[in-house]
Amino acid sequence: MTDSYLTGVEAQADRNAFVLPGLSKRVTFKSDRNFQARVDAHQQVVLLPTEYGIEEYRERGVKIATLCKYDKVERTEDGIFAVTFEGISLCLVKELKYDEPSSSYFVDVELLPQQPINQLNHDIRKLIATIQEQFKEYLKVSPSVRERTIEGIKNPTSIDRLVGDVVLGAKFDNDIQRSLVNERDPLKRLQILSSGLETRIFEQEAEKGRDLVAYYKHRLSSLVVDAEVKKRIYLELSRLRNLKKESSEYGNVIDWLDRILAFPWNAETEDNKDIKAATDILNNSHYGLEKLKQRILDIIAIQKYTKKQPPQILCLYGPPGVGKSTVAKSIADALDRDYYAVSLGGSSKPEDIAGMKRYFIGAKPGKIVDGITQAGSKNCVLLLDEIDKIGRDQIHGDPSAVLLGVLDRNQNDTFKDDYFDVPMDLSSVFFITTANDLSTIAPPLLNRLEVVTLDGYSLNEKVHITNNHLIKKVSSEFGLEQNIISLSPETIGKIIEQYTFESGVRQLENTIREIVRKHIAYKASSGSTLEPVELAIEDINKMIEDAYEEEPNLAVKDEIGVVNKMAVLNGNIGSVSRLEAVITMSGKGEQIVSDNIIGTALSTFKTVAGLLRYRADEWQIPKEIFSDYDIYIHSPGEEKKHDGSSGGIADVICILSAIKNVSVPHKIAFTGAITLKGRILSIGGIKGKVLAAQRQRMKTIILPLANKKDVDKLPPDVIGDMEFKYFEDIMDVCEYIFGTSSNNQQANLAPAKEVTAMAVVINTKEEALHYIDTVVRPKEQEKARQLSESIAPFGNAQIHEEIKFSGHKAWKFSIEGAPQRLDGGAWWLIDTSDVVRTSISDDNNTPEKAFTKHQETLATLQKQQPSIQ
Ligand code: ADP
Repeated sequence: MTDSYLTGVEAQADRNAFVLPGLSKRVTFKSDRNFQARVDAHQQVVLLPTEYGIEEYRERGVKIATLCKYDKVERTEDGIFAVTFEGISLCLVKELKYDEPSSSYFVDVELLPQQPINQLNHDIRKLIATIQEQFKEYLKVSPSVRERTIEGIKNPTSIDRLVGDVVLGAKFDNDIQRSLVNERDPLKRLQILSSGLETRIFEQEAEKGRDLVAYYKHRLSSLVVDAEVKKRIYLELSRLRNLKKESSEYGNVIDWLDRILAFPWNAETEDNKDIKAATDILNNSHYGLEKLKQRILDIIAIQKYTKKQPPQILCLYGPPGVGKSTVAKSIADALDRDYYAVSLGGSSKPEDIAGMKRYFIGAKPGKIVDGITQAGSKNCVLLLDEIDKIGRDQIHGDPSAVLLGVLDRNQNDTFKDDYFDVPMDLSSVFFITTANDLSTIAPPLLNRLEVVTLDGYSLNEKVHITNNHLIKKVSSEFGLEQNIISLSPETIGKIIEQYTFESGVRQLENTIREIVRKHIAYKASSGSTLEPVELAIEDINKMIEDAYEEEPNLAVKDEIGVVNKMAVLNGNIGSVSRLEAVITMSGKGEQIVSDNIIGTALSTFKTVAGLLRYRADEWQIPKEIFSDYDIYIHSPGEEKKHDGSSGGIADVICILSAIKNVSVPHKIAFTGAITLKGRILSIGGIKGKVLAAQRQRMKTIILPLANKKDVDKLPPDVIGDMEFKYFEDIMDVCEYIFGTSSNNQQANLAPAKEVTAMAVVINTKEEALHYIDTVVRPKEQEKARQLSESIAPFGNAQIHEEIKFSGHKAWKFSIEGAPQRLDGGAWWLIDTSDVVRTSISDDNNTPEKAFTKHQETLATLQKQQPSIQ
């Protein structure tokens, strides 16, 4: 072994640990490793610049490092240890060993010999002379360089010394320093040095407003891009030369050049391939989400062997606040890639995605190219947030079609942003998308996406997330090192119940933030010290007055024709919502469904209509239902779009309840698809639906038998104390809900029959009020409003007289318990039962007049509120 071979030298690793001989470097460490003793002993250490973890020296054959000595250690205010190392010599790492007892790494290294200048070949010496000339130029634009450094460059003793002095004198940035450490070929090292120096000269000149063309030309010389791109840049440079500084075109060209040169054409980071480290990063940042984490680890494992990006683009799909965007950042951290989030919400023009042509005023690149530039490397993780919220501008075209080109691995290596107008290679970008609602994503785009569902969290999961993530996160946002409050699981449960109503944890995080803020403010105003304290719900109630108020759209008592239906709505993943059905006369056996029931949910009602006819005898459904009555179906909440197939069971039970006049227990929630003959089929989104049912305090869940296996996989805290009932046939569900006898019960259609000739169906209080505002005469409106407040079930109507007119029937009747008719009014609102809420013409008018009025009313309502039929 020679003197240049050192064994068992302690090694320290850091991302910034590239040190050139003769120069110093400050590296920070979170914990003390007895640094002061090492400084005192002038101990030597090998600094490993570890882009991707120390193991890369073994696994990837990375060799170069720097032998240094400990120079100084300082403890900063935030408790970090800043150690200054002085570079002695570059070295090749031959062996890396881990010492278990001291949890330290040791290396065997071979020092790289310093080649004396006079022994170097002619080319190299010529290049050194050029560098010395360049440095003189540099001094002209930036004269403040230490004498010793200038002297070192004039009379270098070795290449390493020259490199060190130039780096120091011309203040090279980290990227060049890193490449100088890693490049061993002396000629190539000097070439890097020379071109770096030239850049610095032009940068200094540009700062002082000198020759811009030369500056850009120079920057272009170190840019590795396709010939086509280079040609375009040269073209712009020659335009620049001929443009007057005052012209708007001048600024336009400079803007273009700056942006195109800022794009990371060739900057690429090395992926972390250490699965264990990646697992730790993902687990430390997010609780649960096991499926997604496993998927990411699979991708990292595959990338150990191939550089190709996965062909499918991940789409993290789920309600707000379940961690979609933050986990995307953790994925970037786990891969050790740069990250940038692009918000796609509201992008309605193709140019938002792919840039605007340069001849438009205010033209700029699109969000994709801009995002990659911001991230800083061509293999960054680019989050395309809210891909479902892309708008569509009828005039300008469809941005989702452009996005399709961006995400298509077969064509995105020649993507053209309209602003740059040169081919760009996006094939190394790791795209991740997020969505709340898959139904609004254009089908060809959705086809490209690998959807990973994030369902939402159970109470226990939320407690865990609060204790292990949210309190810590919020405390550190306020600059606090430790958790400033603690909360028992019971208190967290109460906070969730009183202040939040969500699948995710965003409102919960906001509530915790408010609690911490108020707690700190209180401590500050009372002059007491800030020490960690456990808060009880009573303390929190005093701090936050406004409990969360949202009337859940649910059946909250047992009602006829009303059921609680579980569904996946608006990407809100699991929801439980109220479904209502009423039977009205003067119909033609039609089903009239509210406008927010769309797509498959709407066509499911057609299946249900067929099933009702098919099973009419068994369910004793009177034949007139299919000829003289209409069925109105509604789910309150305009903004909630029902579009899935999972409501089949709920739809049947709801309509049957209305026909049979039998109420349905409101603590039961239904989900399950059905066939025309009543067989029950499995559905998706089980976890989200069950979580929603848990939030809404449902007691019994009716599900397809085929979904039992999915429920069996759910953790106990998601199941809670809910009871699950599984069915394969709708007849069995009916028996369970209505019992055998009520199954055969004769449908009670009397009240509806008596009033329907002149009935307008009022489904909700809002509709009643709307009706009063638009139809009822002004002087009667106040009374009508009062009346609508006291809507209550009445007894059966007594028919006194039946009249036939123009093919219709009308009845004179009285209704037990009905309110007094309004003075002089022609209309009043009543509710004959919970099944049908009607407005009826009073007997002051002739039936013909009343009927005509009724038709007019319907037409008026329909015009103003198209959902009313
Ligand atoms: P989304 O993008 O789905 O709307 P975010 O990623 O913005 O949700 O998450 C909202 C907040 O909740 C963030 O502060 C995030 O850290 C936190 N959060 C969500 N899920 C988890 C989880 N599983 N573990 C820890 N924190 C979480």
